[in-house]
Amino acid sequence: MRRLLDMSFAELGEYMAELGQPRYRTGQVMRWLCRGADISEMTDLPLSLRQRLSEECETGLPVVAEKLVSQRDGTIKLLFALSDGQLVESVVMDYEHGKTVCVSSQAGCRMGCRFCASTLGGLARNLSAGEILGQVIVAQREIGARIGGVVIMGIGEPFDNYDNVVKFVRLVSAPEGLNIGCRHISISTCGMVDGIRKLAREELPVTLSVSLHSAINSVRSELMPINKKWSVEELLSACREYFDITGRRISFEYILIAGVNDKVSDAAALAAAMDEYMNGVPAHVNLIPCNPVKERGFKPPGRDEIIRFKAVLERKGINVTIRRKLGSDINASCGQLRASARSAT
Ligand code: SAH
Repeated sequence: MRRLLDMSFAELGEYMAELGQPRYRTGQVMRWLCRGADISEMTDLPLSLRQRLSEECETGLPVVAEKLVSQRDGTIKLLFALSDGQLVESVVMDYEHGKTVCVSSQAGCRMGCRFCASTLGGLARNLSAGEILGQVIVAQREIGARIGGVVIMGIGEPFDNYDNVVKFVRLVSAPEGLNIGCRHISISTCGMVDGIRKLAREELPVTLSVSLHSAINSVRSELMPINKKWSVEELLSACREYFDITGRRISFEYILIAGVNDKVSDAAALAAAMDEYMNGVPAHVNLIPCNPVKERGFKPPGRDEIIRFKAVLERKGINVTIRRKLGSDINASCGQLRASARSAT
């Protein structure tokens, strides 16, 4: 089966030509796909074409298996079933500048970060570009409003599925498709340096977001196995290179875990690393009190420790914010819903 959502506008055009269809069919099919319609619902196509498409293709749109709406802030979490039954999650958040969807790039993850629910069952498989795109389209259909931004920060490590993720960025930003500009797209990585270096050369002006979580190698290696492959220094050099090539500001995520990476000395190490590698780079540090992980006894620090950590960074002139917690009543952090659905079956 071919997957329609995996095709660019040009590829869809070639396919329509193969089927002996006039050129305007490409736009018709693309418009239906962007609205989240199934092949049978594409009512302005001749019945014979719909039948042919149904025989040869699937759309790649995921099916909503569960929908949770936060009573606190309106954040919506969607659990999606892909065509082979694999489950992934998306979260739709209301930001000041509009609706943003957080999408998954893999079913499961093999990075092994100690604090993360997505990695518990390992990696099941990569998502295709169209399966990532399908999450944006169905989320938009579900909320009945335009989605203006995408963060690839759901389940999976985007650079462990590099080609499909880059293809997805090209599809979702295409003017004939959803037309979400690269400036409104962020890719978050746990620190795969090869991916950062490659992305810098794609000429896609997306925002790079890096899950740092510690600037001390021994601490970071304990939390994130990837650090044993690429150290903090190698990671930050690659970030520096990303900025030098793209001119795009870099965003660093730092989850705060009580007693693990929240001390004044941790903040000082982070400030020193920023000073050394990000000097003159418009970088931003996002502090995120971690979601508790029962299995490991990880808890977020208290308010005072968080403020203290932030103050150390601010004194060094670092641009820092404490991330607003959205959707905390609906398990909105990556992998939590998929993990509970998996253990329930
Ligand atoms: N693999 C990519 C993107 C997916 S994870 C990455 O690592 O960046 C998305 C973000 O959620 C990352 O910053 C990750 O570190 C964070 N995260 C994972 N588990 C968390 C938890 N228990 N509490 C808070 N943030 C968590």
